Amino acid sequence: MIRWTRRNWLVSLALAAAGQSIIVNAGQVRPKKRELDREKGSRPRKLALEDYEPKSMLHVTETTVPRARFPVIDFHTHLSWSGRRGQVAEAHNNATPQEVLPIMDRKNVRMMVNLTGGYGGVLEQTINYWQKPHPDRFLVFTEPWFGKITEPGFPQFQADQIARARQMGAGGLKVLKTLGLYLRERITSGPLVKIDDQRFDPMWEAAGAHRMPVAIHTSDPEAFFLPTDRFNERYEELSAHPDWSFHGKDFPSNRELQEARNRVMTRHPKTQFVVLHVGDAENLPYVSELLDRHPNMHVETGARIGELGRQPRASRKFFDKYQDRILFGTDAVPRGDDTPQQVFGERLYEIYYRFLETEDEYFDYAPAAKPPQGRWRIYGIGLPEKILRKVYFENAERLLGLKS
Ligand SMILES: [Zn+2]
Repeated sequence: MIRWTRRNWLVSLALAAAGQSIIVNAGQVRPKKRELDREKGSRPRKLALEDYEPKSMLHVTETTVPRARFPVIDFHTHLSWSGRRGQVAEAHNNATPQEVLPIMDRKNVRMMVNLTGGYGGVLEQTINYWQKPHPDRFLVFTEPWFGKITEPGFPQFQADQIARARQMGAGGLKVLKTLGLYLRERITSGPLVKIDDQRFDPMWEAAGAHRMPVAIHTSDPEAFFLPTDRFNERYEELSAHPDWSFHGKDFPSNRELQEARNRVMTRHPKTQFVVLHVGDAENLPYVSELLDRHPNMHVETGARIGELGRQPRASRKFFDKYQDRILFGTDAVPRGDDTPQQVFGERLYEIYYRFLETEDEYFDYAPAAKPPQGRWRIYGIGLPEKILRKVYFENAERLLGLKS
């Protein structure tokens, strides 16, 4: 008996179209050998996944949104990093204000929050470079002095650094995923330091006392915790950045990391936390649960419209329900070419605006030839003006204590 699988059926159709017959044996459909050989000759060569750049044939609306409908506060950018020159710590700027400001003006970006301002002398340099000359356009956050964790008295020292940073003009505290995934008891060796380690309690409290929101990046996409194999939906991204994989070794699970951060939010109810990258953008039901449970929690969108935009109906409901707790952010890095979804520039902002403001369908989430985070495209969620205003600037303005 022939089992008419879809494959058999397609083969028979193709042969019939070519005026050829098929041999039917018990249990299978097989083209004649001669026909098979002919077919082989015309078969296209194997195509490597990395070379595949399919162009969508959909005839759909393409809206260009050159300017945001309301002035934007980009809550998540990296205009500088902490670096070193020899033994001396030094701010490394990824661009100059003169390069960045005209793009901001054209895209209706009123302010960029530079999260990675560092601490101590580097923080001071960064504030002097970006914020002092343009106080209404750039705001700099400070970061914890993790290198001092081995020293006695660190908890109070770090709390005092927060007060000092505030005095210098820092707008908040940024905590990278370093906490939970990289920082160890002897900095680079020993057991990983947990996010809810009590040595940080005075720091979280100080941030609250000085009205500095904490922008915290915890964990990473769920696929980063799975083997980089053919089932991994971020296979190409992890292949391009093997060091982004947290599969195996002594890494905690994504959920353990998230739960440790949740305990911090519970312990410090007067401190406002902005959970970066939507927390766990693949799992909006979980993030919703957390927002319900933690009134001091907010989320930010940086580098996650690829996730939000591939579940547009769930995202639209999420934005509706939590419209007072979502902040616009891009995670933009000037010249950040190895993360195409974050390269600062006009195209990046246009994609975010298109996602938030239009109902366009099936478009790229990154300014790149291939979708860099995963092989999918996104759909706009067409937010109404009231929500757009909140997400673009009102929520950030309130948290940062800015007055328009
Ligand atoms: Zn970032």
